[in-house]
This record gives sequence, structure tokens and C-alpha cells, in this order.
Amino acid sequence: MLITNYDIRLFYKCPMLLYLSYHGPENEMSVHPILKTRRRDSQNKELTFKQLVSRIKGTSLAIDNEKHIINQSWIGNKSYASKVDKLEKIEATSTSNASIYVPTFFRSNPRARKPLMIEGTFVTYILSEFYDNPVDYFVIRSKTGDTECNVENYLSELISDLPLIYKLKSGEQSISPNYTRGCRVCEWRYYCRNLAADTLDLTLVSGIGKRVKKVLFAHDITDIPSLATADPSILKDEDLLTKDLEYFQLQAKSLMEKKAIIRKKMSFPTSKIELFVDVEGSSHHDFVWIIGCVIRKNGDTEYKSFLANSPKGEKVMIVAFLDFITSLEEEYVLYHWSAAEPQYFTNLVDKYNLPRSKVHKIKNHSIDLFDIFKENIILPIFTYTLKDVANWLGFQWREPLIDGATSIILFDNWYLRNDGKSLEKAISYNSDDCKALMVAKDYVLKSLS
Ligand code: SF4
Repeated sequence: MLITNYDIRLFYKCPMLLYLSYHGPENEMSVHPILKTRRRDSQNKELTFKQLVSRIKGTSLAIDNEKHIINQSWIGNKSYASKVDKLEKIEATSTSNASIYVPTFFRSNPRARKPLMIEGTFVTYILSEFYDNPVDYFVIRSKTGDTECNVENYLSELISDLPLIYKLKSGEQSISPNYTRGCRVCEWRYYCRNLAADTLDLTLVSGIGKRVKKVLFAHDITDIPSLATADPSILKDEDLLTKDLEYFQLQAKSLMEKKAIIRKKMSFPTSKIELFVDVEGSSHHDFVWIIGCVIRKNGDTEYKSFLANSPKGEKVMIVAFLDFITSLEEEYVLYHWSAAEPQYFTNLVDKYNLPRSKVHKIKNHSIDLFDIFKENIILPIFTYTLKDVANWLGFQWREPLIDGATSIILFDNWYLRNDGKSLEKAISYNSDDCKALMVAKDYVLKSLS
């Protein structure tokens, strides 16, 4: 059995993902629309062993013939194989070889996250060990230029993980999931969530990831019930803040008892006008396309959306929104979820050289409901997304299968293919987000004041 760069990428995204990709029950897989698009790029999993061997031979021949540039190459031996976008021969300065091949990855983003760093390390490892080509860096080529990435700090980790990667791929060893934020767009999200729920896994507790789970396990705190009842003093020597532990324990208790826990009361500003605002941007087209707002005044509600059809329409959109806010005759409070909205406003105002004072005023009148929930209210849910919170409060989106990620697909359908129906759905999703904010705010007011 061969370990490929595809396996390495999966393992460092999530070891469970590697295991399930080969041994997971197909009928439990629920491919997210976003992944469906992206997985087309990862076809090397589909190559047969024979095809791989033939491609590796082709690259070896090109290396023997000292070809200067080898595009879309495959390198490897009987145990490991990796695709490399480009191998380029350069004069060696720090090795005994006269020249070496340097691997290059073509990427849209120059930033190397860990899975890519280790994938690059894997390639340099194969080149150094099996091709007499000592190289300790790789290059990411993006539209902003070339970035050299040194692999020294990753090599020992890769080498010590290779036996486990082999066992997971071969099925010799299985593994249990760590259910974290990253699971939300994974094709195994429902399957892993059910597995984690069956075992009352610690990672279901909001804020507990792999690292904290390891610390808790070392103290025999192995599931949610044991966390809920643990004596906090047994963790006093650990690098875990008391306030974090207290939060995790309350979260565990709330999950066990299936009820909300109020941590502390707070006073709320009163205002005749309330705005519930949700902003959506398209990161891969690099512009903000909608500012949605539910306005509530004297018990009446109205939804308003400010749209940008293209990057060119973005300035008109933010100016229209700022004019709308300025035109409000009475003081308002603007509610949003997380720090994204104020950041969007600041970015847009700076981008178009508009007066910053307008954003300052908005910020002074804004309340982040996410912060309030995190600080004051514990709910029996696994993550504090607006969707999870509002669903728990009984609010349902008109299109329950749409989420933030699918709304990006809808936006693309409209922007790239002029699909009006997708736009309607995306706006309807945005208006439901704004209404969900209103539900969350009403709950907060009722519970905390
Ligand atoms: S759902 Fe989460 S734990 Fe499961 S395979 Fe995906 S990323 Fe890993």
C-alpha cells in the first residue's frame, strides 16, 4: 500500500478524515456543496497503482535526463508517492550536488497552512531520501509571486506520524472523531457528530478541541458526564485557565441536563429602533455583496437589503447603507453576530475613503449577540453559530438545508451565471439570518434582565 500526498493532506486536516475516506460507510457520507466543487481538484486518490507507477517512472526518466523543468510530475517509491505541480532544476549552493530539483506548488493563496506545509515536507522528504536530491524547502507559486517554505520544523513530526498514517489508511487502526468547528463543512459531519454523541465525546463541548481533550483524558476525564462532575482541583497544575474549566464544566452540565444555564444578568439599552444586521461577503470574488437589515420599530418589522451586483457596486451599496443609518430619526441599537459585521463596515469605509466617524457611530450603537451568549448564557448545543443558537430557540430558516457555505454557492450561481433564483434564495437566507438575530436578542433580553 502506498501513502500519497493526498493521504498526508487528509491526515493533517483530520486523522479521522483519512480513516473514513478509505473505511467509512459510503451511505453515511453527505457531501457538502462546497466540497463537491473542491474535491474535483483531488483526483489523485482515483489513480490506480499501475498508473501511479507509470507516472513515477516518467518523472524519474525526466530527472535522469536532467530536464530543467518537469511539470505535473509524480515522485515516489514502493511506499510513498506524491504529485508535484512543478520540479525545477537549480544550481545547488549548500549541498554537495551540483544542482537540485526544487518542488513548486501552484496555489491561489500564498499562505501555507499546516496541511500544505506537511505536504511540502513530504515531497522534500521523498526527494531527499529516494532521489539523492537534498532539498529542505519548497515553493508556493501564487498570483502574488513565489513564497519559499522551509520544512525543517515539520520533518520530525511527519516521520513520527507516518506509521499511524499507514495504519489508518490500511484500516489496521481505527480512531474516534474530534468534533470541532472545522467539521461543519465536512462530508462526514453527521456521521462523526453521531459517533461523538454516542460516546458523549468531550469535543462536543464548545471550546474543547484536540489539545484540551488530551489534557482532560490524562486526568481520567474522558467524556461529558465525567467532565460535568470532575473536581476542578485535579487540574490545578495544568495549563488550563480556571475560567476556561469552569466554562467547560457548565457547558457539560447544560448538555447533560439539556437546559440553558444563565451565568450572569446584565442590563440592556432600550431604543425605539432596533436593527438586526447580517453582512455577506464573497471572499473569493473579494467584495461584500449584501448588507441585510431587519428594522423593528414600535413592534413592526421590515426587511431591507443593500446589494452590490459586482465589485463596482460595492461603494454605492455601503454609501446607501450609511445614508440609511444617518437618516434614522431616532437613536437605534444595531445587533449582529460576531465581530465580522463591524469589521466589514470598517474595511468598506477605508476602501472607499469614506468618513470613519460614521462607522464609529455605528460601533457605538452596536451589540454583538454572540459575545453576550458566550459570556452570559450556556445552551445545550455543540457550537455557538447563529444557526445552532436560533434553532435551539425554536427559529427555523425557510430553507433549512442552506447554511453560510451554501449561500456562497448561491451567490456564485447568481454572480457568475446570472441565476436569479439563486439570488432570491440567498437574499431569503440573509433575511432569515436577520430574523434569527431578532429571536436571539429577544431571548437574551428575557433571560438576562
Ligand atoms: S466530521 Fe470532523 S472529525 Fe469527522 S472526518 Fe470530518 S473533520 Fe474529521
